[in-house]
Amino acid sequence: MANGPDEELVSLVASAQELLRWEEALGGNGFPAVVDVRAARGYHTRLQMLASEAAECTRCELHRTRTKSVFARGTCDTDLVFVGEGPGFHEDQQGLPFVGRAGQLLDRMIAAMGYDRDGVYICNVVKCRAPENRTPLPTEAIACAHFLVPQLEAVSPKVIVALGRCAAENLRCVPPSGKWRGIWGEWHDIPVMPTYHPAFLLRSPQFKKPVWEDLQEVLRKLNREVPKR
Ligand code: SF4
Repeated sequence: MANGPDEELVSLVASAQELLRWEEALGGNGFPAVVDVRAARGYHTRLQMLASEAAECTRCELHRTRTKSVFARGTCDTDLVFVGEGPGFHEDQQGLPFVGRAGQLLDRMIAAMGYDRDGVYICNVVKCRAPENRTPLPTEAIACAHFLVPQLEAVSPKVIVALGRCAAENLRCVPPSGKWRGIWGEWHDIPVMPTYHPAFLLRSPQFKKPVWEDLQEVLRKLNREVPKR
């Protein structure tokens, strides 16, 4: 999604870094701070603009019943993104994804993988709570892809974990067979691991083991250490 000026800026920053490394090698002081190429590309700004737009969005009927739109939490400088279905009651109140009981379970899953709570990026298919926490309608998910697609493009992780069937479907990772959990898919060349949603695990804790196996697969894909549990 990088446009011309972005590419020019990245090229300029890369050239500047090269010059500074050369200057350092010659005994100079180099540059006083690390140059953040991703920040230079305007990714953070782009995501902030999208979040502001989502806060006012009326693209689908879900805007009528929301308290706050829920854009994302975590960092966009990460190799791992989690995509859920949509905000629940607590998320709608606070404007943050996965802050209720399911969110606390997700945080424990993230910690078990060896990540900080805020070391990953977490978002949902739709940014506004559906009445009675129903599954978002296809028209709502399509309308909200206006946000999800550029979000994922901007973060550009190495792996996406789709939490629940709704997320897996909207990332086009449910094969015709209908078997979806634990089977690698792909979204725009990014590997996607679909697994059960933490809210489902709260109701059906017997499925925690297969979910942990899916997350271990994710760690292997990321070439990270796989903890034994
Ligand atoms: S769910 Fe998405 S598309 Fe619908 S109103 Fe909220 S932000 Fe807009």
